[in-house]
Formats: sequence, C-alpha cells, structure tokens
Amino acid sequence: MTSALDSVIDQVDNNNLNLVRFLFCDTANIIRGKTSSAKTLRNRLQTGIGLVKGSVAVNLIDEPQSDTGYGATGEVRLVPDLKTFHILPYAPASGMLICDMVELNKEPWALCPRTILKRMIARCLEAGVKVKAAFEPEFLLGKVDVDQFVPIDRSNCFSTEGMNRAANFINEFVTALSSQGLTIEQYYPELGHGQHELSIRHAYALDAADNHIIYRETLRGVATRMGLVASLAPKPSPEWPGNGCHLHLSLWDANSNTNLMASEDGLSQMGRYFVAGLLKHLPAVVAVTCASTNSYKRLLPKSWSSAYTCWGYENREAAVRVPSLYWGHEAESTNVEVKCVDSSSNPYLALTAVIAAGMDGIAEKLEPPEPVSSDPSQLSDEESARKGVRRLPRNLSEALEALEGDSVIREALGEEYVKVYLAVKKSEWQRFGKLHAEEEARIHFLRY
Ligand code: GLU
Ligand code: MG
Repeated sequence: MTSALDSVIDQVDNNNLNLVRFLFCDTANIIRGKTSSAKTLRNRLQTGIGLVKGSVAVNLIDEPQSDTGYGATGEVRLVPDLKTFHILPYAPASGMLICDMVELNKEPWALCPRTILKRMIARCLEAGVKVKAAFEPEFLLGKVDVDQFVPIDRSNCFSTEGMNRAANFINEFVTALSSQGLTIEQYYPELGHGQHELSIRHAYALDAADNHIIYRETLRGVATRMGLVASLAPKPSPEWPGNGCHLHLSLWDANSNTNLMASEDGLSQMGRYFVAGLLKHLPAVVAVTCASTNSYKRLLPKSWSSAYTCWGYENREAAVRVPSLYWGHEAESTNVEVKCVDSSSNPYLALTAVIAAGMDGIAEKLEPPEPVSSDPSQLSDEESARKGVRRLPRNLSEALEALEGDSVIREALGEEYVKVYLAVKKSEWQRFGKLHAEEEARIHFLRY
C-alpha cells in the first residue's frame, strides 16, 4: 500500500511540480509559508521546515511584539498534514500543504492555532460530540486602476447583471476550488458593488478551517492571475457594505452520527444550551472572530452583520441566527449561524472560541433568553434587558478587554497564547484604532 507520504511525492513527480508551499495562518491571520523544492521534498515532509518562534508575535504589518518573550530566538518545525496536499491551480508547477507547528522535542506547540483547534476538537470528542462547520465568506472583486479600486460590477443584490459581470472570474474560481476537493454550495452577487458570496459545503471542524485557508488562497490567487483584485476585508471602505464570513455550526453524536441540534420544534435542548453559551461569551468571542480594528466598522446596527448579543429564528440582525431548514432534510440541516465573524479572523482560533463558548453553555446547562424576532436596535430598554440584548463591543479595544475578562475563552485558547494574542492585537489597536477610516480600510483591504 502507498503511504500518505509516497502519495504526495508521486503527485508532485507526476505533475512535474517544482515547489511545494508549507503554509500556516498566524496570529494576525496572515497566511504565510515557506517553500520546499520538489527535489528535497521527501526529507522536508519528514523533518518539517524550521520557523522562528517570534513569528507568532507579529502583527498584520509585520511589526514584531518581542516583549511577549517571542522574538529572534527559538524555533519550531512546520510539519505538514499530508491530507492537505493540493496542486495549486493558480500558481505554476506548485503545490501546498497546511502545517502544524511542532516543538523541536516533537511535542505540539501550544501557540500553534491549528493545534489549539485540534485540542478543542479532542475535548468535544471526549464529550461525545463532533462539530461540523462552514465558513460563508463574502468578498469584493474588481480592478485597480491608478491606485483606485474599481468594482467589477455596480449591480443590485442577487442580480443576473452582477453574475454576468463576474462570470469569467467565478467560473475560474469554482473550477479551482473543485480541483482542490471543495464542494461549492451557492453563489450570488451580494448587496455591494463588486461584492459576491460563494459558499462551500460544511465539514468537520478542522477540515472546515483548512477549507477556509484553501478558499482564501484560491480567491486571491485566481484573482491575481486574472489581473483582478479580491478582498475579504470586513469593511473594505467606510461607504460600502461589509464582508461577513458567517460561521455555521452543528453538533453531531460521535457514535450514532445524528445531529444533536435537531428537534421537531426547531432547536434541541442541547442546541439551546449551545446558543446560551455563545450569547454569554460573545463579547469575548468577537475579540477572536472579529479580530481587526476594521471588523468593528462592519459590526453596526441595520447592516445585517449583527451588533447585539441576541439570537433569533431567521433574524439577520441577530448575532446567532437559526436558519430555515431544507425540506426533506430537516434533521441534517439544523444548524446555528454566528454572524459576528469575518475573514480577518484566524479560522482555527475563531472556531475554537465559538465552540468553547457553546460547549460551556452545554456543560453549565445555560438556558438562552427569549429569541428576538425583530430588529434588536429597536427594542425598548425593558425588552432588551428581558431578552439579554447587549451591544457587542464597539471596537477592538473593548473586545480585547472582554477577552481578558473571560476565563472560559482564555482557557480554550491557552493562557500563554492569549498573552501573545493580546499583545499583537493591542499593537494593531494602537496603530490603526485612531486612523482616518479610509486609511484604516486601505491597510486591511490589501491584507485580507
Ligand atoms: N454583508 C453582511 C455582513 O456583513 C451580510 C449580509 C447577509 O446576510 O448575507 O455580515
Ligand atoms: Mg451574504
């Protein structure tokens, strides 16, 4: 039988690849990597590639936060997960692998985001639960003309005019995602000019996060090849609608493989506990799921992005939405959607924080307040209090404060990692928190 390692080598040889990228997603949610030549790949697959530990403490403009204790000294190995090998449809003769960071003594590194999610998944398994998830990204597509971004369309939401304008790109994008094993669910032009949404099928949590990395890489890679620019930044311009990356989750019985969130009357008791946990911890969770200063330009009332801690059935202003079910597939399709998530968040950390919050609700048997069936910004103070509706943090600084005060989310991420995370994110707040909105948006536009 061919081993997983031999199978990667065979694919590299048979397709005449020259280079294979060893990728990781860092604290600032920049996807980075080092590249092995095809010639030395067999060795590299076994020994990994060295990476300075200080890379964990770098912010989104590459400023190291060395006072965390992570600077120029110390190394981990980038060790690839062989299942994640793909041939890149957007770069010549190249492949990629997603890596874990491993200590030199071969122990998993506690500051590796992918390892942090794996630990959370293992805890859920101990409780008999497997989590399925899907990220649902929105993005902006256009051209840059003399430093000015020009959207690919100026069409209406869901319009066929928007579909036609973006058709060549979307076709290439779908082909490229499919060639890497991702299943496309739906596509449509979104509200903003040049804004589009293409969603992919749910998967077990680790695969869902890996898929989101592949998605982002492919989106920007295909756009670059076609002379276009794509941005997943939460608020690419103060005047335009924001790009969400809603996160759908469901909980499955690890033995019987049934959906534990499903019930005849909407959401099971376990689903309700999960929602209650989410709502309780949401102010701290958004420090991770809405991870940039730019995120909070999106999280505004009346923009369908959610701005309050509340839940509701089919309520697109609620932070936690229970979507309608697929006819004939009611049980399988029962899930909750977290709207206060965007693509400036590291998907491994975002999933960890969301799952930790929900699982705490299950452990503590928390009951959610009444669901909200209207716009939460219009509720009276008395109603808001009764339904537990609170404004989400208004900026990254407030969110980081909530994270510092939430021992459940801190513990899930690991205290040592949280120390680094806070330092990196506080440095971004210092840098961009008070910048002019246009300038702040421009910096994020280019990076996500
Ligand atoms: N663009 C909105 C957001 O920022 C979401 C619109 C929708 O419901 O799809 O989350
Ligand atoms: Mg949308």
